[in-house]
Amino acid sequence: FALAEEEIEWGLGIHGEPGVERTSIRPAHAIVERLLSQIVADLSLQPHDRVALLVNNLGATPTSELNIVAASALQILAEKEIRVERAWAGTFLSALEMAGISLTLLKVEDVRLARLDAPTQTSAWPTLSGRISQVTVQAAPAAPTLAGGTTLSPHSSLRKAIEAVCAALLAAEPTLTEMDQQVGDGDLGISLSRAAQGILQEIDTYPEESMPDAVFRSLSATIRRVVGGTSGPLYAIMLLRAAAVLEHSPQPSLQVWSRAFTAAVEGVMEIGGAQPGDRTMVDALSPAAEAFASALAVPDASDSPLDAAVRAAVAGTERTAAMRPRLGRASYIGERALGYPDPGAYAVSLWLAAIQNALRP
Ligand code: ADP
Ligand code: MG
Repeated sequence: FALAEEEIEWGLGIHGEPGVERTSIRPAHAIVERLLSQIVADLSLQPHDRVALLVNNLGATPTSELNIVAASALQILAEKEIRVERAWAGTFLSALEMAGISLTLLKVEDVRLARLDAPTQTSAWPTLSGRISQVTVQAAPAAPTLAGGTTLSPHSSLRKAIEAVCAALLAAEPTLTEMDQQVGDGDLGISLSRAAQGILQEIDTYPEESMPDAVFRSLSATIRRVVGGTSGPLYAIMLLRAAAVLEHSPQPSLQVWSRAFTAAVEGVMEIGGAQPGDRTMVDALSPAAEAFASALAVPDASDSPLDAAVRAAVAGTERTAAMRPRLGRASYIGERALGYPDPGAYAVSLWLAAIQNALRP
């Protein structure tokens, strides 16, 4: 049988027997909800009933999608207070290479559970027990209430700078992806745009500008949660180290910001182990923090410390194109990285320039 683009069939048979309905495709969670409600009604399942769940791949569903289905099924059953004692997701009964899934619920008591757990030598049954940790249904997290209770005002320059950084990272996603594809694994664009999306989603819950250390800790927490790769933890530590310097500094002077910047860069070097010249983001960060501090020591009305920092970061990024990578993924390709600037360093010059733009009087 043939389906149109974006069309799905519900309840079809394993040999292609017609199902009950054709509709347009829906989000996985909605599909699982409909399938489960039918089964739950058919088995007259009540809260506290115990079941085993089988999430079956009909042959051509990617494992990632199968796991999305499994997660939805566990979530929905938990909401109905049905206790899932065992669960499996995999290819147990396939129909040629069909893209699709089937769900099975089996009522269980101790005897049946013991049978499901019994050792078997068949190759088709996973030797893992299918025991899962229980899913708890969580209410949507309430926005954290803060001492004083106020959050980061849309008019504060700190918020404007954060939003400008997020906008720059979102806009740069394709460029950063391409740069990281050339020398790494191509995930930097996605990682940093995830950071931006996460921050923009949560910024309304961040503390007010008079607690910049708390704002930086919130930024760090968001990034630690949503960004993977090497960049995630390094940015998280960067922000934490800056927060430690900003502590109890409601209106940090430029000197304090400079010390915070330097401490942040030192944190990255300490945790990541990179020195200037290793062809990492440190090659943009370190000269920028130094330029900021020097410009502050020798004030020049026509050239702010931030301007100097941005120039140093851009120059540092350009220099990375001639550096042999010693750390990170780029080190695997050695000489082939020559000629391409380091994407992590480029990202640093991007967000610094975004802050510069946002704070321009
Ligand atoms: P990966 O995909 O390799 O885990 P990301 O794509 O998140 O990492 O980030 C890549 C960038 O991380 C590189 O361009 C480089 O600037 C930076 N980087 C890699 N290793 C280090 C390190 N040890 N210290 C500082 N920065 C690093
Ligand atoms: Mg990468």
